[in-house]
Amino acid sequence: LRTNYRNFPMVQKVVFGKGSFDQLGEILLPVRKNADAPVVFLVDDVFEGTGLIPRIPLIFNDQIIFISAEEEPKTDQVDALVRKIKSDFSEVPSGIVGIGGGTLLDLAKAVSIMLTNKGSSAQLQGWDLVEKPAIYHLGVPTLSGTGAEVSRTTVLMGPERKLGINSDYTTFDQVVLDPDLLVGVPKVQWFYTGMDCFIHCVESLNGTYLNAFSQSYGEKALELCKEVFLGDLNEETAREKLMMASWHGGMSIAYSQVGVAHAMSYGLSYVLGVKHGIGNCLVFAHLEEFYPEGVTLFREMLAKNDINLPQKVCSKLTEAEFDTMISISLSMEPLWENALGKNWLEKIDREKLRSIYEKI
Ligand code: NAD
Ligand code: ZN
Repeated sequence: LRTNYRNFPMVQKVVFGKGSFDQLGEILLPVRKNADAPVVFLVDDVFEGTGLIPRIPLIFNDQIIFISAEEEPKTDQVDALVRKIKSDFSEVPSGIVGIGGGTLLDLAKAVSIMLTNKGSSAQLQGWDLVEKPAIYHLGVPTLSGTGAEVSRTTVLMGPERKLGINSDYTTFDQVVLDPDLLVGVPKVQWFYTGMDCFIHCVESLNGTYLNAFSQSYGEKALELCKEVFLGDLNEETAREKLMMASWHGGMSIAYSQVGVAHAMSYGLSYVLGVKHGIGNCLVFAHLEEFYPEGVTLFREMLAKNDINLPQKVCSKLTEAEFDTMISISLSMEPLWENALGKNWLEKIDREKLRSIYEKI
């Protein structure tokens, strides 16, 4: 009998509810070390000039840094932010707060780790390479689906590949789940990021790593996704349910892994800069052979929500670009092992991946 089961950190504290964002000041008060150790708020620049900004509880020398989510987080971007924060303040900040979708949540996680660890964030991409605990970090999702609010990873584009800093120190200390913050998410973005959650569930529930822990969360998240994307909920209920679906979807991955769509979408995004949510959808549409039921449901969701996926995304790629894409994808070993089992290399090859990419 195996007794070395993984011992996972969880988000220590979580608030859920409409308007809970206004409790941020009260939540941060006990975290503040002194007047010179600020709280730094990394905020999606989509909120610049909106009513959300005056609600951010700034005191002392706290700082807001607006960041565009146009591009997904990069290791050199994280390193630059850490240099800026170190040069702006005499003390290590009391905490980092990330406000936004998966992009801002991941940046907040990575910056909080790099404020206490040496070197470049690129050196910590991988599994359990972080040596020192991060500083306090708090996540406020404004877009739901990635599960970045609960996961123990922060996915970064590095010089060599797109890979997470997976560690026990990555997980947020606190998360504030306020469904009202999802008001105003563009419909197409809502769908693509929501599908990230749906695809997490399908890949986790159909993976070889599945156990009862992952299954319990995955099944709940899948049920919520069906209600949100195939049911007739009012908008307020849909926001609450997608927020909880994302949470459960992320929890489901803790003991399991994602699968074929994620492995292939990482290649797509490395070569073409395609964003995570849409990249997953582009790939998933062609994976009926791996996830027949999931792909059928996915097609129903596309139709019900009037979404037309972009076509011919890979039509102009060179041989070298296809090669890179395939190599990046195949390097995601745990994802393939989860999807296809220990002998995954016997079940998939470069030609197979090439034929799927060509359809996208
Ligand atoms: P995102 O954060 O990239 O944001 C997408 C767009 O939505 C941006 O234009 C942003 O400005 C906008 N937006 C966000 N909130 C909004 C709001 N309330 N109103 C209007 N617009 C809003 O999107 P995402 O899909 O949440 O995150 C994708 C990122 O998450 C990728 O970098 C991916 O690698 C990462 N990810 C991380 C994990 C993890 O476990 N750490 C898991 C999956 C994905
Ligand atoms: Zn994902």
